[in-house]
Amino acid sequence: MKQPVRVRFAPSPTGPLHIGGVRTALYNYLFAKKHGGALVLRIEDTDQNRYVEGSEAYILEALSWCGIQFDEGPHLGGPYGPYRQSERKPQYREYAENLVRNGHAYYAFDTPESLDRQRATLEAQGKTFSYNWENRDALLNSLHLSEQETQQRLANGAEFVIRFKSPKDEKLVLQDTIRGNIAIDTNILDDKVLFKSDGMPTYHLANIVDDHLMQITHVIRGEEWLPSLALHVQLYRAFGWEAPEFAHLPLIMKPEGKGKLSKRDGEKLGFPVYPLQWDGATGYRESGYFPQAVINFLAMLGWNPGTEQELFSMEELIGQFSLARVHKSGARFDPEKNKWYNHQYLQMKSPLELATLLKPIIEQELGALQGSQNPPATVPPMAYIEKAVALLKERAYFVRDLWESGSYFFASPTGFNPKVVKKQWKDDTAAIMGDLCELLEATGRFSSQHLENTIKEWIGEQELPFGKVMAPLRLALVGDLMGPHLFDIMELIGRQECLDRIRFAVKQLGER
Ligand code: GLU
Repeated sequence: MKQPVRVRFAPSPTGPLHIGGVRTALYNYLFAKKHGGALVLRIEDTDQNRYVEGSEAYILEALSWCGIQFDEGPHLGGPYGPYRQSERKPQYREYAENLVRNGHAYYAFDTPESLDRQRATLEAQGKTFSYNWENRDALLNSLHLSEQETQQRLANGAEFVIRFKSPKDEKLVLQDTIRGNIAIDTNILDDKVLFKSDGMPTYHLANIVDDHLMQITHVIRGEEWLPSLALHVQLYRAFGWEAPEFAHLPLIMKPEGKGKLSKRDGEKLGFPVYPLQWDGATGYRESGYFPQAVINFLAMLGWNPGTEQELFSMEELIGQFSLARVHKSGARFDPEKNKWYNHQYLQMKSPLELATLLKPIIEQELGALQGSQNPPATVPPMAYIEKAVALLKERAYFVRDLWESGSYFFASPTGFNPKVVKKQWKDDTAAIMGDLCELLEATGRFSSQHLENTIKEWIGEQELPFGKVMAPLRLALVGDLMGPHLFDIMELIGRQECLDRIRFAVKQLGER
């Protein structure tokens, strides 16, 4: 690579960023960083009808949450600005007119109604209408109007568009880094509009002009833009500019493998498809995903390192990423794998980090429990939350799970699983628990190991089956037969709390 690498992410502000868009931004970022190049954010807002307020801010916030940083963009400025196409508007007409002058484009004055009529006539005959070499000489354009007539129409303010004159009988060979060479017969192409009657360029024109002016060296974008490649390559040629390299990323497919992943799949199967919430639809951030987990998952969605390694920091991804290892075929979105990544990143966090994230959830949940706890539960000190987290994290996928599976560390159980009660709470259980309370009151140190020795020894002396004591004890302390090592739980919640909970259970469940 001779020139410094410059890539761009060029979203249209037409709504929230889909997870596929985040992946495109990520691959551009990885590629730029790997080659010591620059990543540009360009907002492609030439389609005024599709503009959605708030999308640009959303895109910036979402990508910053993911840790994807730009070197240039509307929020940062830079030597090739402005970075919003609407602010670059004055330049595009000039470029389109240049193409008209050198014979690669033409003015077309057909009204939408007349084109609709012709389309309908052909469709009635089972044919399709394309504006191209086959019929352009019969349509209302500057290819066959006299120069004077064309100028007159323009001077009179007639509505016009500028169309690209796609050549007849040419075989194009398009090069794509991921897909290799793609042969195209220009006869199947239509004469795309480059400049619209509203005075705005179309995506195609603005995109090529800006990629050229911004000195973009590699265009890395979604596969849905592959059909535009033939036009784009021809536009570079018509302008006499060197084209960048192109890489079209594979589509992201539904979990079942067929068809493109849609917003509805997420709603149906309960997983987010947006990085941040948007208009009532939840986002990865709000669902408790760590940005590092989302990034790692997305990096692997269409790319592989060629080894068994699955966990990568951003730095490692930058080091290993290459377009040569991006797949051609669609990448199946696996929501379970997505969660697995979050689980892995949760395991990597220290108890202190997790406790800090869990604390606001505890506060909120204890607030909601107000009234059901007597005395009311209070938020324990950080050191206590850290210890609880250390016991719970192994099974957690999200920070929220730490509360869901371990609320008994922070509030005594308000109910007991009826199935467990039925099976484990026998006629003599209350008496056994009463004796156990005496033991717990009398025993010296209240440490996990000491409790384990003492209680096991006591069970032996009483000649009781182990489960007859341990199952109801767990039920009394936790409310269910779940959770980590019981003696660890006992040590953490402490002697008085253990006694209170056992006595409460005896009172509630009594002798049956
Ligand atoms: N504005 C286009 C989009 O919304 C950009 C496509 C491209 O990268 O060329 O995805």
